[in-house]
Parts: sequence; structure tokens; C-alpha cells
Amino acid sequence: MKWIRPDSPDYDEARKLFNAMIDRRPAVIAQCADQADVAEALAYAHNHNLNIAVRAGGHSVAGMSMNDGGLVVDVRPMKAISADPENQTVTAGAGVTWGEFDRVAQEHGLAVTGGRASTTGLAGFTLGGGSGWLERSFGFACDSLQSVDLVTAKGERVTASATENPELFWALHGGGGNFGVATSFTFKMHQLGPTVQAGLLLWPGEAATEIARAYRDAAMAAPDSVGTGFVFLTAPPEPFVPEDMVGKMAVGVAYLYAGDSEEGEEHVKPFREFEPAVDLVGPMPYSDFQCMIDDPPGHYNYWSADYHNELSDDALHLFVDSANRLPGPASQQLILPWGGAVGGPAAASTPLQHRNAQWVSHPFGLAETREEGEEGEAWVKQFRQDIAPYTTGGVWLNFIGNEGQDRIMAAYGEENYRRLSRVKRDFDPDNTFRGNQNILPAGH
Ligand SMILES: Cc1cc2nc3c(=O)[nH]c(=O)nc-3n(C[C@H](O)[C@H](O)[C@H](O)COP(=O)(O)OP(=O)(O)OC[C@H]3O[C@@H](n4cnc5c(N)ncnc54)[C@H](O)[C@@H]3O)c2cc1C
Repeated sequence: MKWIRPDSPDYDEARKLFNAMIDRRPAVIAQCADQADVAEALAYAHNHNLNIAVRAGGHSVAGMSMNDGGLVVDVRPMKAISADPENQTVTAGAGVTWGEFDRVAQEHGLAVTGGRASTTGLAGFTLGGGSGWLERSFGFACDSLQSVDLVTAKGERVTASATENPELFWALHGGGGNFGVATSFTFKMHQLGPTVQAGLLLWPGEAATEIARAYRDAAMAAPDSVGTGFVFLTAPPEPFVPEDMVGKMAVGVAYLYAGDSEEGEEHVKPFREFEPAVDLVGPMPYSDFQCMIDDPPGHYNYWSADYHNELSDDALHLFVDSANRLPGPASQQLILPWGGAVGGPAAASTPLQHRNAQWVSHPFGLAETREEGEEGEAWVKQFRQDIAPYTTGGVWLNFIGNEGQDRIMAAYGEENYRRLSRVKRDFDPDNTFRGNQNILPAGH
């Protein structure tokens, strides 16, 4: 166990999160290497009356994994990853990132739905559900969980699986870090790769409306093995981007086929119909695709998200209009199609509501300075206001900051929220773990 305090030389590095907007100063950071360390850190916090935050990959855009004046349980030293190819399982410590996980799993041609950015922590991502390019084939990351080991608020070690603490196991399928400190995750894996048909297509922004409509239709018609996303962005100064596009609004499609490469080549055709200016789709290692669009750390971020049952031409018009006002070159607007395994049989067995929504929109403002970050926030909020008539009211909590209790309720629905509250009461009655999209213990 390593204790880091404000006078430690590595204090500033240890308290840094992905989102530069967050600048919190905990009293102590407990870097935990195993369950005994976690139990010791929790007891220390209890004895010194310190608030607790739990930190893994540090990608919570709201900075929920850091606090002011409290204790942070930092699980990053838990880096063990072991694959059991015979049983098609992989067990990973809570400090593992998706890039690290994918590299080991892919040595055995195995995969599970992982983060769209390889730097995202496996722990926070999976506990929040975990949406990624493979979700239409394999469901969310949480759908492939076989078991999770945790340390509870009282320092007890528990395992949650279909047979051990099944209510807790259910709650861990999207209920976040509300129930304890997760120390390791075992996934039932799927066969994939190592080579897949994947990549990016890019068009100039002048054609945004036509391309967005064509994308919508192609994505709706695509088989479940096709994972895509539509992005409005500023074309970067990369060698593969035509000079006259650089620095201007552009639209892109990220494509990943979860299956045979030749079939993947066939199914990308409808997305290519509008002759992209940049076409990087081809055979590539799955783990390379998984880090192809890593967002840079250290930017000032503001994010949000909504669900949609359909994307009418009128709704798409609002997306294009908003993209024409992208605040700064790093900000983006993402549209993701759900369907397939997201709304399949697993949908009824997790606390996450609205899994049958067809689309998710995810605007994110990214800036190099705090002032520009505030412009990004205003842009995201304006878009949400404009698009409101076209949304379902549901939300994917992993994609949003701290937007209050109503949004948490919107993610789970009343019935699932009540059930989560009962699990919370059983495992964390004093709401020790509240640095998260918080579920209040039943009876509060
Ligand atoms: C660049 C980027 C890309 C992203 N892409 C996706 C995406 O494609 N799909 C998606 O679903 N989400 C995505 N997210 C959101 C991300 O999944 C969530 O923010 C997630 O919570 C991050 O997990 P983390 O471990 O990195 O973060 P942290 O900030 O360390 O933790 C996030 C939350 O999880 C809790 N937590 C972390 N570890 C534990 C633990 N061991 N036990 C108990 N609670 C814990 C924390 O207390 C906190 O509330 C992305 C975020 C970023 C910044």
C-alpha cells in the first residue's frame, strides 16, 4: 500500500484525472494493490471521518473518482490480467485499462465489448454498463460479466456472480460504484480477431446532411455484427486528410465488423456509397482499432447524452446545425446506433432501462483552456435543449457528468432504481460510496 499526501512529490500526478476541469485536492490517496489494502484504506477513512472516492482509470468526466479533503481509494496498482482460453474467460484487476485488457485477450483471439478509448478504466466503464463498438454483437461489457470481487464498506470481501450474491451481481450490471470497491472482474469472452475489418471514413462537412441521412439508413439496415458510430468533428491536420478539409467541420463513420473480414468488407459497402474523401477501412488488428480514436487527456471536457427512438430528417438537421458551431477543433458530436444484442435477451436482466432505444447522441465539448471549456459546456447544453423534442428521456450515465438525481432515475426507471436502492441498503447502508451516479439506500 502506498499513501500519497499533499506533501508527497507524486501528489499532483496522482490526483490528476482525464478531465482537466477537475482540480480536487484529497487529504490522502491510498494506492491499493490488493483487497487487504482496500479494507485498510476504508478503515482508515472511517476512523478519520473522511469522505471516500474510488478511482480506477480516472475517466469519469464529472470527476467522481476524486474528492476534496477526503480519501481516494486508487485501485490502479491492481494490474493482473489472466486469460483462460479453454473456458474462454479473462480475469482482470480493477486497475486495468481497456488497452491493457485487449492486448492480453487478443493473444487468444478473445474480446468483450470494451471502451472506445483504450485509456478508459475497465472498472468504472463496466460498472456503468460499458458501451462499445461490439455491443450490437455481444451486448454491453456488463452483459459478459461472470463474476466480480469486491470489498464492501465494512471491509468485507464478497464475490458477486449468478450464484453468489445474485442481487448484488444484478446491481453491478450498470449500477456503478455504489456497492463496494471492485477489485477484480471475470468476463466470459467471445471469439474475435485478432484481425478485423475496421477503420474510419471521412467526408467534408458541406455534405453533412446527405451523409448523415445515408448513414442513418445504412446503420438501421446493417446486421448486428456491424458496429458503427457517426461523428461530427473538425478534420485534423493528419497526412491522410486532404488539405482543403483540414480545420473544417467534417463527418465520419467509425466501422468495426465483428466477424469474418470478407463479410466485413461486404457490409461496409453501404457506408462507402457516398464516396468518402478518406477511407481507412481495411483489415487491422482489433486492439489497434480500439486505440484509433483515443481522445487526448488533459483537455477541459463537458459531456452529455440522450436516447432517441428515431432520427428524423428534422432531428438530423439540428445535429448538423449544432455541428456547424462546434466549439473548438477537439469537440465532437457522436451518434451511436443501438439494436442487436443491446436490446436482446440480456436487456431484461440489468438495471439499465431503455435498452431498446435505437440511437444515442453524445455531444462532447473538449477544449485546451478552461474558458473554451465553458464555451463547450454552453454548446452541449444548447444542443440538448434543441434536441429535447426528439429524445426518449432515457440516458446512458457513463456519457454524462453530474446532471442530478432526475437523470439517474431516467437511466434506471423507478422500479429498477428501487431495487438498486435495496441492494444499496444491504451492502452500503450509510452511503459510504457516494462519489458516483449515486443511488440512495432504501429508507433514506
Ligand atoms: C475518452 C473517454 C472515452 C469513453 N468512452 C466510453 C465508451 O465508449 N463507452 C462507455 O460506456 N463509456 C465511455 N466513457 C465513459 C467511461 O466509461 C466512464 O466515465 C467510466 O466511469 C470511466 O471509468 P474509469 O475507471 O476510467 O473512471 P474513474 O473516474 O476512475 O471512475 C469512474 C466511476 O467509477 C467508480 N469506480 C471506479 N473504479 C471502481 C472500483 N474499482 N470499484 C467501485 N467503483 C469504482 C468511481 O468511483 C467513479 O464513480 C469514456 C470516457 C472517456 C473519458
